Amino acid sequence: MTLEIRKILDMNAFDVSQKAPAGQTLLKRRLQNFGTASVLFYRTPIEMVRARGAWMIAKDGTRYLDFYNNVPSVGHCHPRVVKAISDQAATLNIHTRYLIQVLDTYIESLKATLPAHLDNLLLACTGSEANDLALRIATQCTGKSGFIVTETAYHGNTLATTDISPAALKRRALPDHVVAVPPPSRAHFNDAVAEGFATAVADAVATLNQRRHGPAALICDSIFSSDGVFSEPAGFLADAVQVVRQVGGLYIADEVQPGFGRTGECMWGFQRHGVEPDMVTMGKPMGNGFPMAGVAVRSSHVARFCEEVGYFNTFGGNPVAAAAGQAVLDIIREEGLMANALVIGEQIIDGLRTLRKAFPTLADVRGTGLFIGIDLCANGDPARPDPGLTTAVTNGLKDRGVLVGAAGKYGNTLKLRPPLCLTAEEADIFLNALEDTLAECSRS
Ligand code: PMP
Repeated sequence: MTLEIRKILDMNAFDVSQKAPAGQTLLKRRLQNFGTASVLFYRTPIEMVRARGAWMIAKDGTRYLDFYNNVPSVGHCHPRVVKAISDQAATLNIHTRYLIQVLDTYIESLKATLPAHLDNLLLACTGSEANDLALRIATQCTGKSGFIVTETAYHGNTLATTDISPAALKRRALPDHVVAVPPPSRAHFNDAVAEGFATAVADAVATLNQRRHGPAALICDSIFSSDGVFSEPAGFLADAVQVVRQVGGLYIADEVQPGFGRTGECMWGFQRHGVEPDMVTMGKPMGNGFPMAGVAVRSSHVARFCEEVGYFNTFGGNPVAAAAGQAVLDIIREEGLMANALVIGEQIIDGLRTLRKAFPTLADVRGTGLFIGIDLCANGDPARPDPGLTTAVTNGLKDRGVLVGAAGKYGNTLKLRPPLCLTAEEADIFLNALEDTLAECSRS
């Protein structure tokens, strides 16, 4: 059987080469406005009009339980975030070339969640910008130009971050200065995940040296989301990080997906692995929808970087962003969202493992907190990934009012990332909808 490698933006996407069906005027306008760059989910895209908590409401009144979107992580349109944004927008909204108290208060709150050696924060508006900056700092500070990534990684949409995002490249190969390694999965390394991953990284270092780039950094999404969600055994990153450090390379933790408490146990995904990154990049849930991103980095690295170029970002770290970010941190703490993510995540994982007994196509269930991946394979055989079934399940769940996504090299991993405020009842709604969908798929 030949398996087609799927690209992250193509998974379960509306086929933009199609014409909008009669009567779908908004879809027609979108296709006219965005052209081939339209990325829309589902064979019949949904027009969304409102959202609250874990629910999104479509124009036709259908309520969807959101198990996909990891930006509104403290809950869609959380009233405290909305108020913080609107109060600050009505008071002062300007760039960072003035002293602004709300901003330094925010940065200090954020730094308190990070290792002490990461004593500077550079703010941006998107995860791509944050990673782009981290790559430039790594190149500058190590004098090397090579990067090691995982084989289905996604790190952004700028020129430099597209080069390190195999999941985004449709036709061309990775450039010479980028080497991809398999993700730290049992499928690749059996029970020796940490050792196997470290050996793969050591081989990548050798390749970069042969190509005369040398390793500037290993950059990993700490939960390997687009690779298919790999979280266990906790600690598996440490050996690989050591391999890179020994040869003068840096370790960049891309926390755009797992950061801000989603993994339940810790604020940051890397903390589960007992490693201390040289840089931490963050974004998505940082402002619960207000565009915010950043790089936490050593002040000595910032100083070295700024010898060559300055860094200024017109919108990054503006007072409204700072107010939104502060509200997010306060809500995570005061509403106990990390503990909730852990408890409800366990409920979902337990429920999925029970479902596996009746539906062996659920070949593997992985994850921690409210970041969960489920592999769908024919007859439960890991060698037979079933992206067709994954698409059918995704659409079946949508028909039952639940939104999920797909990931993995072959697009056969269901990716679950509900808001951290998810309740036990909402978790059960998902599990029941999945059971129903799987039953329907196994009949057809
Ligand atoms: N890193 C990771 C791990 C991501 O998943 C993404 C976005 N999907 C990015 C970086 C880029 O973030 P943005 O889309 O905000 O530029």
